[in-house]
Amino acid sequence: MDNFVCGINPARVIFGTGALSHLGGEASRLGIQRALIVTTSSQRHAEQAVSLLGCRAAGTFTGAKMHTPLRITDTALAALIDCDADGIVAIGGGAAIGLSKALALRTDLPQIVIPTTYSGSEMTAILGETDDGKKVTQTSSRILPEVVIYDVELTLSFPALLAGTSGLNAIAHAVEALYARDRNPVVDLLAVEGISALAKALPRIVEHPQDHDARALALYGAFLCGTCLGAVGMALHHKLCHTLGGLFDLPHAPTHAAVLPHAVAYNAPAVPQAMAKIAAALATRDAAIGLYDLAGAVGAIRTLADLGMPADRLSEVVCLALQNPYWNPRPLEPQGIRFLLEHALAGRPPQPD
Ligand code: NAD
Repeated sequence: MDNFVCGINPARVIFGTGALSHLGGEASRLGIQRALIVTTSSQRHAEQAVSLLGCRAAGTFTGAKMHTPLRITDTALAALIDCDADGIVAIGGGAAIGLSKALALRTDLPQIVIPTTYSGSEMTAILGETDDGKKVTQTSSRILPEVVIYDVELTLSFPALLAGTSGLNAIAHAVEALYARDRNPVVDLLAVEGISALAKALPRIVEHPQDHDARALALYGAFLCGTCLGAVGMALHHKLCHTLGGLFDLPHAPTHAAVLPHAVAYNAPAVPQAMAKIAAALATRDAAIGLYDLAGAVGAIRTLADLGMPADRLSEVVCLALQNPYWNPRPLEPQGIRFLLEHALAGRPPQPD
């Protein structure tokens, strides 16, 4: 076996049905007396968190938005200072978690994060912030949440279609972990188990949205995939989604679902062993086609144009994706990237270029 380095994020994770009931105890363990609860306006579970925190709830900010715009962070920071908060509780998807991380970066306050989607953001020390159409990512130990509470009950209300695309967003983390430059055998195990759990659970959720076991399996898979994202570096797929999200304000998880099969087809010739592991975890013969079929099975939009990417700006995306060179298992070739984006734009099945 080759030598390896493995750094897995040390957050305390509480997982299960009814796990939210631990919130008060965890706040007390972290010494939080006055928590600011951050969430999105449509999040219906925030009230539960407020009620469980009781007198430890100092205020609620409901304005979190996807891609963490700086102007929202400024407003939330003013609310945090106003209520003299000494801790942050985020409840919701990656949008709420992103805002919590942005506040923690600026204040170094402890965070308890309660994910209700499968974005995986809760397991990473990474923060992507948007200003003027540009998304800038940074990493800091201040960003990493101290406690993560995964409560299966909170995900039952997550609409099946959103759950499907969110699950594919999670799978994307594990897929790129399997061919990461700094990959290691422990993360490989997490990645394969995470992909397999989500590939089994997501079609079941679409068929029976209240299938509790399937929801638990999906949340478990999302936890594992998020851990992969926090442990090793990502590559072309994440760079493309990041570029598309920042440039056109495309919805985060659906963009991942539409791009992933094509990014995998591009990288496939360079990493046959990773492809074999992904295909096996998906119980299919070809990793890229398996991901495209899974996206179809969960009802995801597979056509980037339908998600809002303007066809006449394809060259701009290719240019941006090649800026600030980053590691990818296959060298970044403008023609090949253009080819994969054309396929994703039109929603065609992935093909080798
Ligand atoms: P999101 O947070 O916008 O949630 C998607 C939608 O689902 C929202 O309308 C939300 O209100 C709704 N929702 C969430 N949970 C629900 C529930 N249980 N029941 C009903 N509705 C529910 O989107 P997301 O895909 O979770 O996160 C995307 C954001 O996360 C982006 O800003 C992205 O950049 C960020 N992200 C960051 C990292 C990281 O490591 N930094 C990783 C992944 C994603």
